[in-house]
Amino acid sequence: MNEQLIDNLVDQVVAKINEERSFLVEASGRHVHLSQEHINALFGEGYQLTINNYLSQPGQYASKERVTLLGPKGTLHNVVILGPARAASQVEISGTDALALGIKVPVKESGDIEGTPGIVLVNGHKTVTLEKGLIIAKRHVHVSTNDAKKMNVTQGEIVKVRINSEQRSLIFDDVVIRVSDKFATAMHIDYDEANACSFKKGIRGHIVK
Ligand SMILES: [Zn+2]
Repeated sequence: MNEQLIDNLVDQVVAKINEERSFLVEASGRHVHLSQEHINALFGEGYQLTINNYLSQPGQYASKERVTLLGPKGTLHNVVILGPARAASQVEISGTDALALGIKVPVKESGDIEGTPGIVLVNGHKTVTLEKGLIIAKRHVHVSTNDAKKMNVTQGEIVKVRINSEQRSLIFDDVVIRVSDKFATAMHIDYDEANACSFKKGIRGHIVK
């Protein structure tokens, strides 16, 4: 075999390995997770969310129910509630949304809501004032336990992820790896991040070390 042939072969193998280690990237719009207590307060005692469509993460769904977020400077209407109900309510918005609401919102991992600002949720005449739980979600990759081995990553690790797009390819730093056997492997970014890389459905990410 000549050198050129070997080089081509190596390139092909590397490309295949990279493809196998790549993952789907999904853009998450602003959304709300609610405790059953807050579902009751906004929709009535014992109310069950209506499933609209299932999401990539097993068991997670977008409901048909919507709420309004009320901030000191602005409101965001028609914000989707994701189910099922959680132990604690949490509202995930983008940096642009935070400016529209007029609230200084920290970048946090999902569930890490101690010390975060609250927000008022409105459904018709019913309102709930959350004392905390308003966050800009830290960009993250959900990784199944199986894929974590293949991808050589561990729970809580911070990685860089390259996104190839037509005009705005970029490398996101500060991406947290979250590993669970309950996860399907996929990266989640918000709409600000999606716009920054000219996100299109089906786009894939690659870890760069
Ligand atoms: Zn996620």
